[in-house]
Amino acid sequence: MIPKTIKIGPIQYEIVKTDKLPEEVSGEFVPEQCRFFINQDHHIQQQDVALIHEIVHAILLQGGRSIESEDEDLVCILAHGLLQVLRNNHFLTEHLYRIRF
Ligand SMILES: [Zn+2]
Repeated sequence: MIPKTIKIGPIQYEIVKTDKLPEEVSGEFVPEQCRFFINQDHHIQQQDVALIHEIVHAILLQGGRSIESEDEDLVCILAHGLLQVLRNNHFLTEHLYRIRF
């Protein structure tokens, strides 16, 4: 199940599953609202990719990248790669979870 919130850097973002996005759009990041919108009509696997995709956008924005930057190809590559690594290496997230700040 997709969580309702996620903390990235100093910001707590709300994750909203919605049927209001255009059919071809899986997710949307609205930094002004501290929200990620995920298209609930898309397959759950695509929703997971969309969530990681929007998280990568948020990380890049917090790192100083403009939301209008031409990062889409890179964001897609990182989203798919990160999701695969996290899914297939559960021990890694457990290991990383041991030390939290
Ligand atoms: Zn994007």
